[in-house]
Amino acid sequence: MSWAAHEFENYFIQKHVGVKASFLGIVVGTQLPDLFTKAFVYSADDPAQFHRGWPGVGFSHSLIFGVVFAAAILAITRSRGWALGVLIGQWAHVLTDVSDTAGVMLFFPFSTEPVTISMWKHAAAEGQYGDAAAYYSSLGWAWDLFWLAMALVFAWRTLRRDYFREVIVAADPRVWGWLHRTFRLPESALLLLYRGLMFYGVGRLIAWFLYARLDARVPLDLSWGGPGHVAGNDISDAGPLEVLIRTGIGGVLFAGFLWLCWWAFGRRLWERGYDVPVAAERRRVVTRTGQ
Ligand SMILES: [Zn+2]
Repeated sequence: MSWAAHEFENYFIQKHVGVKASFLGIVVGTQLPDLFTKAFVYSADDPAQFHRGWPGVGFSHSLIFGVVFAAAILAITRSRGWALGVLIGQWAHVLTDVSDTAGVMLFFPFSTEPVTISMWKHAAAEGQYGDAAAYYSSLGWAWDLFWLAMALVFAWRTLRRDYFREVIVAADPRVWGWLHRTFRLPESALLLLYRGLMFYGVGRLIAWFLYARLDARVPLDLSWGGPGHVAGNDISDAGPLEVLIRTGIGGVLFAGFLWLCWWAFGRRLWERGYDVPVAAERRRVVTRTGQ
């Protein structure tokens, strides 16, 4: 699994989708796979198998899980921005988790073979603290730093007040407006909430890294597939060719299934949905072009 990388991704994604997707939707999407499962993972008999495999809750880390949630959100709220946000966020989380040794069943239920590049060990078997110590001693730590850098270098503008006003709120005026009215939060408080996720991610990154160095005292091991002090936790013994073939077939079936869903009800749901309210969109354009 990845830790703070999931927080940093949100800003990077937002920069690329602009007003098309709700930031809060993206956040819900990136949290979705671990939201209902993580609490049970550490107490499972075989944490890696339970977290990512089948049988288990590994379907939470599949692309179809995001599609189901996005479709349900579109059907209930009719908000395209939220549906799109949740979908992109969940898919980003799934793709990010390809990096640990347990991997993800990308095309579940059409393939239950986990896909992984085994960059660092899935270490949930060590318990939450051991897991954190292992992650922040491996390339996982570098992965967090990479996403922090991506967010700060390429998406730093998303943290500015005017961006918050013109894109974040404009893309989702209903929910931000609701937060503003219900909790009587002024814009600065909403902005703090928005930026808070970045601070939360940075805080976690620093705190767990220091914990791994100073308290757990485990050695830093930036080798591929590390850290060495943790036992391997690969949940499949299939060779690369078998994984490739099964994933390939799963991918084709998944794409066909998506197309069928789009044709059967997806397009109707999308057409029934609404985009960002026109007024908000106009305001954004006006501010941008300075007219
Ligand atoms: Zn995850």
